[in-house]
Amino acid sequence: MTSPEPATGLLEDTPIVPGNDTPRCDHHRPAGHAVHGQPQSLCPAFGSLRTGLRMRRTAVVLVGSACCVYGLTFISHFYGARRSVGYVPFGSESLVTGRLFEDIRAAVMRLADPARYDTIVVINLCIPAASGVPLHLLPREVSGVRIIGTDIPGFGVPTHAEAKDVLAAAMLAYARAEAERGRVAPPPTRGDKPAVALLGEMFPLDPMTIGALLEPMGLNAGPAVPTRDWRELYGALDCPVAAVLHPFYGLCADQFEMAGRLAVGSAPVGRAATASWLDGIGAAHGLGRAVTDRAKNAILPALKTALADNPVRGRIVLSGYEGSELLVARLLIECGADVPYVGTACPGTLWSDSDRDWLEAEGVAVRFRTTLEQDIDAVDQLSPDLVIGTPALVQHAKSRAIPALYFTNLISARPLMGLPGVASLSGIVNTALAGQARFQRMEDFFAGVGEGPTGGIWPIAPAPPRRGRVRTGCRDVSGIAGEATGC
Ligand code: SF4
Repeated sequence: MTSPEPATGLLEDTPIVPGNDTPRCDHHRPAGHAVHGQPQSLCPAFGSLRTGLRMRRTAVVLVGSACCVYGLTFISHFYGARRSVGYVPFGSESLVTGRLFEDIRAAVMRLADPARYDTIVVINLCIPAASGVPLHLLPREVSGVRIIGTDIPGFGVPTHAEAKDVLAAAMLAYARAEAERGRVAPPPTRGDKPAVALLGEMFPLDPMTIGALLEPMGLNAGPAVPTRDWRELYGALDCPVAAVLHPFYGLCADQFEMAGRLAVGSAPVGRAATASWLDGIGAAHGLGRAVTDRAKNAILPALKTALADNPVRGRIVLSGYEGSELLVARLLIECGADVPYVGTACPGTLWSDSDRDWLEAEGVAVRFRTTLEQDIDAVDQLSPDLVIGTPALVQHAKSRAIPALYFTNLISARPLMGLPGVASLSGIVNTALAGQARFQRMEDFFAGVGEGPTGGIWPIAPAPPRRGRVRTGCRDVSGIAGEATGC
């Protein structure tokens, strides 16, 4: 498959060339850091809701408009929550009189049964958050059940990825405070070697892959944050080093640093990133060069072979709101793909700097806090063979007969680390690239449907059909068997 030459004046209208205007922000999110005017992912609170619903013995209570709660509970069950979601409804009166806070407090008191729950998470959605409903005044603990309140408004936490960070960091902060006050229950599993805590949601195989990479260094893969169990939070904080595999976990990284731990960015994805990641982990643990080289020698030759055996040919435009977009782009480039543009709805952070630097050195335009309009411009100007993106971007690409993959469901839900990541990513991408002819056939078949007079929007009222002459879609069916057809 060949890629057309880049259009002249590549992306002239949108300044996304390397060394662009993207603010270089640290993981503390300095004031004035550019954010979206509106969420660029599904409702951001879903990130917190999902993080809470995955925790054992944890109840999640939403406070917000009924329509927001309906959508959030619907999507949580679509993704297999199999758990009830609590809801504290409100009206204008309860909001402005302050009774809403009392209702939340009463709900928490009623729900706080230590036989059922370790933790209750209360999430303020947009309106209660904007109205300043003071969740910090909730009791910190009721009958031994921890109470954690968080504000996750779409106007302040722009992506569901960052919303995961907000709740996971709130839990880490609570667990850290408990550990600092005295002895806490030991983690469910604790190895005999120093471990690396893993920050980021991964495919279940990825932590095992990371464990195998660390083994020659005498290290274990520690708990993954967000955790599934409260005691795993103690286990994560017990690790001397945290790997910030997904770079938007800045608030969680703060918690590790406040606990005196070291944090390392990027992830072992592809050959180059794996080499630098092992260097970073070895240095953070104070290991000698020989030990780190042993780990690198155990994997880098095999990765080189795997990359050569799984080539990807074609131009790919990539964007998403999961936060792992830069890592995926690195791997695609190492497989041989031409990736001129990577967008992510997440912010640039200290933990994505090395991936951004690597990509920009390869000539890739990297855009943090991208918008749908900017991603669409990239697709229109770069003529890719494949688009990997958000649902709206995928829809745009498919309407132009460009094969497209939804990042969240088709890329994020697969192994990415180490050797399994190479085969998995190249497999799905090559399958999609091979579908170009099918897209062309579909475009030919549906040509004109859904556009112009068949788009469902008429500038003037359509005239009633004349007897014996009716059009369906864009096809003239007059005269078929001498009768009018269609409806
Ligand atoms: S209004 Fe706010 S809480 Fe409701 S769906 Fe939108 S972003 Fe989510």
